[in-house]
Amino acid sequence: MADDTRLLYLEDEAHLCFEARVLAVQETAHGYAIILDRTGFFPEGGGQPSDTGTIGDVPIERVTLVDGVALHHCKRIPNLRAEDRVLGRVDTDRRHDLAQQHTAQHLISAVFYDRDDIATIGFHLGNEESTVDLDINPAHADAAYLDAMEFMVNARVWADKPVRIRTVDPRDTAALRGMPPEQLRGDIRIVVIDDDLDQTPCCGTHVRSTGQIGPILFTGTSTMRGNLRLAFLAGGRALKRMQTMRRRIERTSKVLGCSPEDLQNRVENLLRRADSAERHLRSATESLAECEARAVAESIRHRGFLQRRWEAEEVPDDSFAQMVGNRLPDKGRWIFLGGIREGDRYKITVLRSPDLAVDLGTRAKALLEPLGGRGGGPPDMLRGMIPASAWDELAQVLRGLGETHREG
Ligand SMILES: [Zn+2]
Repeated sequence: MADDTRLLYLEDEAHLCFEARVLAVQETAHGYAIILDRTGFFPEGGGQPSDTGTIGDVPIERVTLVDGVALHHCKRIPNLRAEDRVLGRVDTDRRHDLAQQHTAQHLISAVFYDRDDIATIGFHLGNEESTVDLDINPAHADAAYLDAMEFMVNARVWADKPVRIRTVDPRDTAALRGMPPEQLRGDIRIVVIDDDLDQTPCCGTHVRSTGQIGPILFTGTSTMRGNLRLAFLAGGRALKRMQTMRRRIERTSKVLGCSPEDLQNRVENLLRRADSAERHLRSATESLAECEARAVAESIRHRGFLQRRWEAEEVPDDSFAQMVGNRLPDKGRWIFLGGIREGDRYKITVLRSPDLAVDLGTRAKALLEPLGGRGGGPPDMLRGMIPASAWDELAQVLRGLGETHREG
């Protein structure tokens, strides 16, 4: 196995452009990996994704650390040989963005601990939002509390305190409060923010002062194993989110014809009006169905079969035919065919009185398929679709069916 890769970022995180010697090029499961004697790339780990960038002209998509050796992953085979001298370049925008999110997490964790003794038990740096898991019952973290904490965290940003890296001897127990013993190997890298606000052993990448984190925005909470999971955005990501939200609010205000300040009132008013309109519509629809049902019932008394067709715009919705059918008398051995026209098709509902022993559901296929339609249902109801041109034929078949069973 090759010697450990010298990790330049541990010595100075500003090593974003560096010279190195190629030790080997390996084929991997997903492409190739370049191994160098030293690297400025941060390999993924500790909840933080790796840097990306280039080695020579080869795009590096990911960097992993395996047994102390940094693997720089690339898709196509690199034109490099052992002993070649190469120039590595870390994508500085991405590095800065990841360092902003990561340092923000240090600050959030430190403020919760400093203010209320709340420990951090998990951290994830996401492609969009990042999350920190805090040892507090979510029920005890209401909006007012989180607003106050968000303010306090941002106040630490404005104070623009230095973020320093310090290396300590693992026997210096005072400096390593709370650190798991299995991590106490070799010299320990401690990240110190604001002299004593935060001292955390960490191998990630950081900005140089809290001011460089930029704005920190709490974006939501959820419950994770009984603890509070707090989502946040920092720096450029926070600004972009605010811009997106501002545009969304502006567009919505424009559509609703009100100022952003009036947005909530306007939406609440609209919902109240929609609710009232819906209640009126329901009541009017029921009256209409009642009316239609009386007319249909009158004819059924004489003929045993009745059909009724509506244009789609004449009725409130697809269930109207069924609403009419449900208001027809229980007795009288009738069959009712209701249809709502949509273009060149009818949505149909066939109902029969409980005293007519015809199983409509099981006949659906035999009735509709020869007409180019389809449908199904329980014994007393059939719903489906037929071509508009097949209406008369279906009516005739159903009339015949009714007559046969009336006489039986
Ligand atoms: Zn860190």
